[in-house]
Amino acid sequence: MNISYEFFPARTEKGKKNLGKTLNTLNNTNPDFYSVTYGALGSTQNATFDTISQLSSATNASVAPHLTCVGSDREQITKLLDEYAQLGVSRVVVLRGDIPPAIRDIGEFHYASELVEFIRNQHGDRFTIDVAAYPEKHPQSKTVATDIEHFANKVKVGADSAITQYFYNIDAYFRFVDEAQQLGVNIPIVPGIMPITNYQQLARFSKICDADIPSWILNRLEMYSEDSESLKAFGLDVVSEMCQQMKVRGVNDFHFYTMNKSEPALSIVGNIV
Ligand SMILES: Cc1cc2nc3c(=O)[nH]c(=O)nc-3n(C[C@H](O)[C@H](O)[C@H](O)COP(=O)(O)OP(=O)(O)OC[C@H]3O[C@@H](n4cnc5c(N)ncnc54)[C@H](O)[C@@H]3O)c2cc1C
Repeated sequence: MNISYEFFPARTEKGKKNLGKTLNTLNNTNPDFYSVTYGALGSTQNATFDTISQLSSATNASVAPHLTCVGSDREQITKLLDEYAQLGVSRVVVLRGDIPPAIRDIGEFHYASELVEFIRNQHGDRFTIDVAAYPEKHPQSKTVATDIEHFANKVKVGADSAITQYFYNIDAYFRFVDEAQQLGVNIPIVPGIMPITNYQQLARFSKICDADIPSWILNRLEMYSEDSESLKAFGLDVVSEMCQQMKVRGVNDFHFYTMNKSEPALSIVGNIV
């Protein structure tokens, strides 16, 4: 089984210390890589670099910074990739980023595919490139069919692997993989797994990224909203079961959204190996 973990950048001394501890614990599972998110418009750009730097000196696994079209231009991406290469980075997660409402033109790169193509043209095979995939459809896409075509285009211009938005309905994932394969996509499409540990937080995220929480799960999370231990136990059970079912159906790679905590992802990994 191949595992990867996603972090957000640590911005305070306390955050860096906590992330160091999380990393030490997760290193025991021998992950393929760790990735670090990138904030739109400068909010966490330096912090992403600093966190990548912190991780690369504390793990033998690959570390992969996220890069976004939003807030980037050719010159800045070129400089950043050179700096990352000097740190030994050989993998990047390439995204468009979420467009802040006040922004009309996001700059030189409008879609992740354009940034993927730029990196491929500039650097050849120097970087492994991951892109995002949306089994339930990207919220701004008019139809599933056009969204999958746009996804296939990212692969055509050079993506090596994809990580999905999180989901709690595995049929959506397998249907997406089938439909992408019908368009000639033959790269790994790795399910992004979001542990369930906090009802309010999950509801907030899911609203932002339009991820569906099935009502049978939602009803139980509401029921346990004042009982965090029961909620965590239920969340662990549901997400572990989902991963186990995917494993039985041939999925061998899992990417965990960790929220910089080791325990929720580790418990799931422990249940599926
Ligand atoms: C694994 C993962 C990691 C993420 N990490 C970050 C992060 O670090 N920082 C961050 O800000 N956000 C992150 N996001 C969120 C992501 O940036 C948003 O979901 C964003 O809205 C879309 O990014 P994308 O790379 O999928 O965009 P794209 O692939 O560019 O697609 C965006 C939309 O445009 C459409 N589209 C694509 N190409 C075309 C075209 N040629 N013509 C017309 N329409 C087109 C697509 O169908 C889709 O609706 C992440 C998401 C995932 C799943």
